[in-house]
Amino acid sequence: MSGVTSFSPPATDLIDRLARARAVAASAGVDVLLVSPGPDLRYLTGYDAKPLERLTCLVLPVEGSPALVVPALERTAAEAAGADALGLEIVPWQETDDAYALVGTLLPGGVRQAALDNHMWAEKVLAFRAALPSVEQTLAGEILRELRMRKTTAEVEALGEAGAAIDRVHARIGEWLRPGRTEREVGRDIYDAILAEGHVQVDFVIVGSGPNSASPHHEVSDRVIQRGEPVVVDIGGTTEAGYCSDETRTYVVGGEPDDEIRRYYDVLQRAQAAATAHVRPGVTAESVDAVARQIISDAGYGEAFIHRTGHGIGMESHEDPYIVTGNTLPLEPGMAFSIEPGIYFEGRHGARIEDIVVVTEDGVESLNVRPRDLVVVDG
Ligand code: ZN
Ligand code: ZN
Repeated sequence: MSGVTSFSPPATDLIDRLARARAVAASAGVDVLLVSPGPDLRYLTGYDAKPLERLTCLVLPVEGSPALVVPALERTAAEAAGADALGLEIVPWQETDDAYALVGTLLPGGVRQAALDNHMWAEKVLAFRAALPSVEQTLAGEILRELRMRKTTAEVEALGEAGAAIDRVHARIGEWLRPGRTEREVGRDIYDAILAEGHVQVDFVIVGSGPNSASPHHEVSDRVIQRGEPVVVDIGGTTEAGYCSDETRTYVVGGEPDDEIRRYYDVLQRAQAAATAHVRPGVTAESVDAVARQIISDAGYGEAFIHRTGHGIGMESHEDPYIVTGNTLPLEPGMAFSIEPGIYFEGRHGARIEDIVVVTEDGVESLNVRPRDLVVVDG
């Protein structure tokens, strides 16, 4: 649940983030950041505000005093989250006030360009446009990604806790996965286990059996799981500290898979391991994708690897950096992302292996450590 959180980073870290956000904004030619509830606001202020129709907005000018505009009824929650300890003036507005015009009165003179958080509701974006017609709007994502994709030691630890939590759920899959049960039944048990094992929120549960294993974003269905077929289990949640987990393993239930599956799974496992081993500071994001793709293509399965190799992860389960052709970003220590190649034969079966990894000073650390073999679960 959102609301008051006692799991914020220390105020000194948040003050540092606010200062860096201003510095990056200044160098991008932006005069003010406007940040509504969501992961960006939580990252910058520790305040996990409710995303509702009433405007809550961090007003962070490059020069001048920052403020947190909140509905009067949420003032207590904002104070409890420690916003005033960060040097933010909390500015409440009453039900009949125009909150957007109020933000306008808080801006220093001469503001020309405002960067709005990427997830701001369209109705709020348009209300700001109407209230501040001379202010050009841009996206804050390009600025905040520069901060958020470089995790501090404390953030890497928080991601590590999330990774260990989802490892514990995968370790228990044998309790639930067996022939004759539906994907939905298994998924419900996994859902409960994600919450029982160190998360406060379930973000997604994919249990793709048989032909559904070939559909990367399948969730669950009433299909009955059959003996000897692959089941892709891709699951993730959010911890109390606000960090996400995401891990995929492919299982076979109640019997040996056929040779074809064994053959391409072996290729997939080599590709995932090689891509992981390739990660170190200075290599590009796209080169990690290329390593996995080359191995899969060389084995003749290139057409069956139908998505990018990975995505960044942190306070959102998909964020920068994306591990994809065309992303020439050099990796740096503290960047965290998934490595999740897959091989899929539509209508028949498929497999995926996914770990979250973090770039270290001289290499890589995997935050998921469950065995990556094709696991045959007794049924
Ligand atoms: Zn996943
Ligand atoms: Zn993923």
